[in-house]
Amino acid sequence: MRVPFLDLQAIHGPITSELEKAARRVMLGGRFVLGPETASFEEEFAGHCGVAHAIGVGNGLDALHLSLRALGVGPGDEVVVPGNTFVATWLAVTMSGATPVPVDPDPVTLNMTVEACAAAITSRTAAIMPVHLYGRLADVDGLSALATRHGLALVEDAAQAHGARLGARGAAGSFGHAAAFSFYPGKNLGALGDGGAVTTNDPAVAERVRKLRNYGSVERYVHESLGCNSRLDELQAALLRVKLPHLDEWNTRRRETADLYATALEWTSVDRPAPPPGHDASESHVWHLYVVQTDDRTRLQAHLQRQGIETQVHYPTPPHRQAAYADLVRAPLPVTDMLAERVLSLPMGPHLRTHHVERVANAITAFDRDALVATRAV
Ligand SMILES: *Cc1c(COP(=O)(O)O)cnc(C)c1O
Repeated sequence: MRVPFLDLQAIHGPITSELEKAARRVMLGGRFVLGPETASFEEEFAGHCGVAHAIGVGNGLDALHLSLRALGVGPGDEVVVPGNTFVATWLAVTMSGATPVPVDPDPVTLNMTVEACAAAITSRTAAIMPVHLYGRLADVDGLSALATRHGLALVEDAAQAHGARLGARGAAGSFGHAAAFSFYPGKNLGALGDGGAVTTNDPAVAERVRKLRNYGSVERYVHESLGCNSRLDELQAALLRVKLPHLDEWNTRRRETADLYATALEWTSVDRPAPPPGHDASESHVWHLYVVQTDDRTRLQAHLQRQGIETQVHYPTPPHRQAAYADLVRAPLPVTDMLAERVLSLPMGPHLRTHHVERVANAITAFDRDALVATRAV
């Protein structure tokens, strides 16, 4: 039995006819860009996040970069970002004209800490941009307070955290001055292609993003700012409207799977991700990825592959080790470097059932036993 890393067919299977209906509606309606589907999805997604405004854009990278630009971040500014993130977080800063200032994460939650962020603030800092990494909400209270104290913008990279919430206090996308989501197919809420959104409670920021995504224009052929072309299209918006009502139930399944993994992997050699805090914060993690740590990643990954279990590494080479950022002046990032060597993402998604998790755990147990036998034989 194969255990796929993520199975989008299995997720789309039960809603195929609804997706087909939505696609047909767009095709027959004849509006393909900035029409009624996008407007409705924006309203529905804003409602889900508990914010006043959502603006559909072309992808998550643009959502991040347009958030920064709408908040006035630009050349000469610095933006504090995590070292351990997908390169898009940094590229968005670079695209805005500002400079990314990376910090090491908390070694337990793997998210940005207030202490590291505070230590990185200079007279040029304009914004801090935490990532809700792997679906776990960053310390939004601490980072909000820090941003307020220093007069900085707080931008959430919520590309991995659709639907993560802190009880009645709010959801991912509602804690910063602006937040960016990606609807890349593999995300917790994914389109059938590229897509993204900016969320905000600030009408002026919303207005600026609306302009920037559409050639700097509200009225046709009138260009007030140097915008770009980055719009969520009608087809993707219509498909996302079918999928959004399922997001919470899919996230619940991810949480159940994470709980099963936590129990099944207890006595294995891998380090499990820290459980999210209890009570109000039990929904603060939506498990975009289930990332364990191991000292023997190459061999473990090959062993799992032989058993038909797909795993991935998020991320093998952090942005500061990429050629694209070879010239960036920065502090050392030992925790980020350590994580890049040790992290391994196990299969995760609403497609998984108990027997899949048991299979993964059994395969890891067998790997541990073989390793033990091998040591004894020496
Ligand atoms: C996926 C992702 C992005 C970028 O989203 P795209 O839609 O692929 O541009 C940005 N940040 C993080 C943390 C992501 O996981």
